[in-house]
Amino acid sequence: MSNDDCIFCQIVDGDIPSHTVFEDDTAMAFLDANPLAPGHTLVIPKAHHETLEDVPEETAAHVFGVLHRLNTSVQHAVDADAANVAFNDGEAAGQEVPHVHGHIIPRFDADGGSPIHAVAGQRPDLTDAELDEIAEEIHTTR
Ligand code: AMP
Ligand code: ZN
Repeated sequence: MSNDDCIFCQIVDGDIPSHTVFEDDTAMAFLDANPLAPGHTLVIPKAHHETLEDVPEETAAHVFGVLHRLNTSVQHAVDADAANVAFNDGEAAGQEVPHVHGHIIPRFDADGGSPIHAVAGQRPDLTDAELDEIAEEIHTTR
């Protein structure tokens, strides 16, 4: 389940070096090579899946467990005040490496960064009826 053209699969296979901070049979985590903050860490399933939708639920749960534990370790390691934990899930959301990965980005008081609310474009002005319609659609397709 490895993709020869994928940079993260090459890290999993040991063909590209990484600053690995965690590894088990299913998941791996390493420091981002172009960090947004000290301690910026990426958590991945070892198997090649492009987006979250492609990841089997059991694997997703395992990866989230690793993300949850490492979020604490990373913040303690760099003495952070907080962290943004997020996935760029798909190209339109800014995903550049097509092997699903969660970012742990340590944050510091007055670091000049933005909250996750800043990632999307123009805010839509939705009516209550439109919110109902969207909620119903999510409910029926879940
Ligand atoms: P995304 O835009 O969510 O796909 O983020 C991809 C991330 O992978 C970026 O933050 C890159 O800095 C990081 N990255 C790319 N190549 C490597 C690599 N060889 N080792 C570690 N991180 C990498
Ligand atoms: Zn891959």
